[in-house]
Amino acid sequence: MTTRDPASEPAWAWDEGRWRAGVSKVRAGRSLRPARWKDGARVCVALSFDSDHETSTLREGSVSPGRLSQGEYGARTAVPRILELLRREGVRVSFFVPGVVAKLHPDEQRRVVDAGHELAMHGWIHELTSELPGTVERDLMQRAYETLAKIAGRPPVGVRCPSWDFSPTTLGLIRELGLLYDSSLMADDEPYELLEDGAPTGIVELPVEWIKDDAPYLGMNRFSAIRPYTPPSAVLEIFKAEFDGAVAEGGLFLLTMHPHIIGHRSRIALLEELIRHIKRTEGVWFATHEEVARYCKENPGSGDRLRL
Ligand SMILES: [Zn+2]
Repeated sequence: MTTRDPASEPAWAWDEGRWRAGVSKVRAGRSLRPARWKDGARVCVALSFDSDHETSTLREGSVSPGRLSQGEYGARTAVPRILELLRREGVRVSFFVPGVVAKLHPDEQRRVVDAGHELAMHGWIHELTSELPGTVERDLMQRAYETLAKIAGRPPVGVRCPSWDFSPTTLGLIRELGLLYDSSLMADDEPYELLEDGAPTGIVELPVEWIKDDAPYLGMNRFSAIRPYTPPSAVLEIFKAEFDGAVAEGGLFLLTMHPHIIGHRSRIALLEELIRHIKRTEGVWFATHEEVARYCKENPGSGDRLRL
């Protein structure tokens, strides 16, 4: 019989202490859903764009010009198109930007900030956070933080981890940096406080979900099975239904998009129609993630779904 490395012990052999500790390392705490949204709004809408651009290729150690150009489209064509739409509609949003993208396209980030949008962290080179050794993760987070602070003229207050995962040290580093919120986890539709090893951290979680993300429906990678199988009209239908559900519960509708994915002609139309659909509802509060996190932290409610 071979001696197993405890780290590779199969999950069915774990004792209760081990699976409980694993589950409670990072966990959802109290709901931060406010009793009322700002100015009595019925629903809160937080749109976000993850400007991955070239880093979705670079992070794999690839410098393929073809694949890089797919990301370059995000900076060159999509972000200007998106900023124009947001300007026309008078909507402010959050842009999550890797440090390397900020350095490749500093003028883009300045335009984003000058237009009143939020600039927030999204890793260094879109690295997979969960695979990083702790010391490397600290260094990359610090670099990303300082890079955005320098370009934006003020430090970022929020983070969305690339590919939406934490390492065992991520939450501790978020606390060390003194950030207000994270937007990478999925335990609720509504904002909540993150617990670390069962203890409240004061960090606001603004939850994401793959169903409220353009990439799983519309992504394309020639050398994997990723294909845009879903037509934009069906994506619009799903996003509208998520928004309508948030209205019915008086909750938060948080949507993640990627400039190089949503910014194409056939898809920006989807976003435009979604914004129009949202605006046909009375009492919508469009807010940046920072504004939502601050409001929820200052006005935490009972977490009950509102009955409208
Ligand atoms: Zn990303």
